[in-house]
Amino acid sequence: MDFELSPEQRRLRKDVIAFAERELGKDTPADDREARFPRADWERCAAFGVLGWPVPEEYGGAGLDPLTTMIALEALGYGCRDNGLVFAVNNHLWACTIHLLLHGSDEVKRAYLPSLCAGSLIGAQALSEPEAGSDLLGITTVARRDGDVYRLDGTKCFISNGPVADVFVVLARTGDEGRKQNQLTAFVVTADLPGVVKKAELSKMGLRSTPMGVIEFDGTPVPAANVLGREGGGYGVFTSSIEWERSFMFAPQVGAMERLLDASVRHANSREQFGRSIGNFQAVSHEIADMKIRLELARMLLYRVGWLKREGRLALLDATMAKIFVSESLVRTAMAAVEVHGARGYLTDEGIERELRDALAGPIYAGTNAVQRGILGELIGVRGALSTGEPR
Ligand SMILES: Cc1cc2nc3c(=O)[nH]c(=O)nc-3n(C[C@H](O)[C@H](O)[C@H](O)COP(=O)(O)OP(=O)(O)OC[C@H]3O[C@@H](n4cnc5c(N)ncnc54)[C@H](O)[C@@H]3O)c2cc1C
Repeated sequence: MDFELSPEQRRLRKDVIAFAERELGKDTPADDREARFPRADWERCAAFGVLGWPVPEEYGGAGLDPLTTMIALEALGYGCRDNGLVFAVNNHLWACTIHLLLHGSDEVKRAYLPSLCAGSLIGAQALSEPEAGSDLLGITTVARRDGDVYRLDGTKCFISNGPVADVFVVLARTGDEGRKQNQLTAFVVTADLPGVVKKAELSKMGLRSTPMGVIEFDGTPVPAANVLGREGGGYGVFTSSIEWERSFMFAPQVGAMERLLDASVRHANSREQFGRSIGNFQAVSHEIADMKIRLELARMLLYRVGWLKREGRLALLDATMAKIFVSESLVRTAMAAVEVHGARGYLTDEGIERELRDALAGPIYAGTNAVQRGILGELIGVRGALSTGEPR
């Protein structure tokens, strides 16, 4: 077992942190306040190659192996304090690009991946609906075959990047018979197709520089060539890609945890009360020690997923554990950072309270942690731990 990063990985980590600190997040407080998508920063990420890290070179990416991708994403999360931008980037990568990469035909890959890597197309994923969140099998958006196209009708909500997206990965119902898992199909849908309506932009507590919206499909003609996998295979498409989303999307959160740890150490050493730095008080130093423990455990869980994927192995169990642990650890670390900073942690100017607001989304998106625990229960042999309405 080798825990050492290679010299190339160490260099990449250093370069990514330097890039992110130097070039990203200059307007983060205003972008957060005004819920503004930092498009110039998006373009800087694209120019640096971030949007193509895991994509093979033949499709316009950098072809980094999964473990190295994980390390680079963690560095991005450390260096960039705009967690909303980082989430928009990760949503693009792990909720859209990865589906095309794993399940698109060669035609689909050649048509979209180079522009997704270059950032000229922005990706999103449209699964959730007003009446179907955790219960994905209950979606009602339909796709009816009509010659060379499928006609798509329905409403999707909570779509990250939705208001600015050009390419959506959409899950829709193509049948009502047989097993529920075989009734769904995944499609690549471009925003310029007739009947794609970007409705309300949703205002949210955190990750405010990631735009989120409601998308309606009104008879949208989606070319049959844009099916991901096969008709009826949509649920399989999502379950096979989900291990990537539940782990790689959370790698930047480990970087954010380290950034909060460093800020807390600095504050504990510089802020004096009762004639000494507050780090002298065990209540403070123990809080910071726990931040470090959470950080290292979270990192190990994620690197293990990166390693499993590099070896071409399944990582659903590990990715599910990572999603739960990393997202909850970040919430606890952000709360601890607010506490260590006292009133300064609560003021908007310092940016610590924003970290907490941003962190609170992690246990909800990519499947709530309650649902993840149900899945984990099933994966380790607890029968019926998650009820999907029929045996899985
Ligand atoms: C920041 C953010 C970004 C998002 N981005 C996207 C996106 O890009 N695309 C997209 O499609 N969706 C997106 N979502 C939506 C997200 O996937 C859903 O919020 C999530 O799946 C939960 O669905 P819901 O909100 O409808 O909650 P519900 O499913 O209504 O759940 C409400 C509560 O009930 C609990 N619950 C429900 N079922 C069970 C069960 N079987 N066992 C135990 N507890 C259960 C849940 O854990 C939760 O606490 C995003 C959400 C957030 C917060």
